[in-house]
Amino acid sequence: MEAFTDLDRQGFIEQKERFLDVFHTWFAAEHRNLPWRDLACPNPYHVWISEIMLQQTRVTAVIDYFLRFTSELPDIHALAEVSDDRLMKLWEGLGYYSRARNLKKCAQVLVNEYGGELPKEPEQLLSLPGIGPYTAGAIASIAYGLPKAAVDGNVLRVLSRLLGSRADISAQSTKNAFSGLLDEILPYAKNAGIINQAFMDLGATICVPGGEARCGKCPLEGFCKARKLGIENELPVKPKAKPRRIEHRVILILVQDGKVLVDKRPGQGLLAGLYEYPGACITQKQLEDYERGVSEKRALKVYENLFGDIGLNAKKACFALRSKHIFSHIEWEMIGLYVETTDTYNAEALAEKNMYFAEAGELKEHFALPGAFSAYTNAFLGRRGETDGSH
Ligand code: SF4
Repeated sequence: MEAFTDLDRQGFIEQKERFLDVFHTWFAAEHRNLPWRDLACPNPYHVWISEIMLQQTRVTAVIDYFLRFTSELPDIHALAEVSDDRLMKLWEGLGYYSRARNLKKCAQVLVNEYGGELPKEPEQLLSLPGIGPYTAGAIASIAYGLPKAAVDGNVLRVLSRLLGSRADISAQSTKNAFSGLLDEILPYAKNAGIINQAFMDLGATICVPGGEARCGKCPLEGFCKARKLGIENELPVKPKAKPRRIEHRVILILVQDGKVLVDKRPGQGLLAGLYEYPGACITQKQLEDYERGVSEKRALKVYENLFGDIGLNAKKACFALRSKHIFSHIEWEMIGLYVETTDTYNAEALAEKNMYFAEAGELKEHFALPGAFSAYTNAFLGRRGETDGSH
């Protein structure tokens, strides 16, 4: 299906000046104050970091991360030099960790090839690690004022309603059509970056998803075809998400003298390069069985079967704390296996297996553990009376 008819396109283009004017005026009065936003003098580094953090993540969740990240890594040079472990620690809990790895890779390219600056041209931006069409458009327009569209899910929703479009917004052809349409009108804007940010704010605060568009408060109501037809809450059209694969896992909390065992995940794949508590896949039936409660003898046996190769004997063992974590395509249903060992361990031999016994302070400051494990981290820290609730 075409994203919009020639007639709708023509109508939109014909009223571009009034549309841009109304939208600009609304944004000047109603824009959100955000720590990465400096409307008078945008900082390209801040625009870039915030746009990457905001992918798949809500503004409220990003604010503290952004402030911490940019206070420790205030510029591209600092980002290019940060250690991988520290980078992951700064990103801990934000998810989609490849975004952080790409930020560092990109910063290194910028230092080596662009004098430590972000280029202005969208084509150059697009050639950099982790920068796709949306981010390139956002940086080019917001940081440098170039008339380039930045089309994300919010903008697609607003545009499909404005144009009354029933085209599938997940289709590349729809994204291209909307992006092309914006590229046609943005050269007429006083400031293209302001218009792109106005789309972002309108999509986040007024033209919201979930059948709750607040059209009565919308500055664009008079331009909106979906509103005229009363179909605003039927749009946008997108396919149903595929069901996620469910994995059942035992998470080992192996404790000795107030320290807990963590290991480093492989450099590729899900949660690559982050730390975790050792885990193993089990069946749903096993998980339900363990959750109902098993004898200590049986818990010790499970430990031996699943984690015997760590090479540490257990003194006590029990199952506790069911938790769940949802990734984009997979869901982990987990149960903790708490084990106490009194065996003396050889730190060097463990380190060869990328395993470490971590104290509470090190868990907080050094080892980056993804949000998937926060229930277990908090339980461990809570036992020591040091739960900080930051995960
Ligand atoms: S009038 Fe309603 S549907 Fe149309 S852009 Fe505004 S909030 Fe969205």
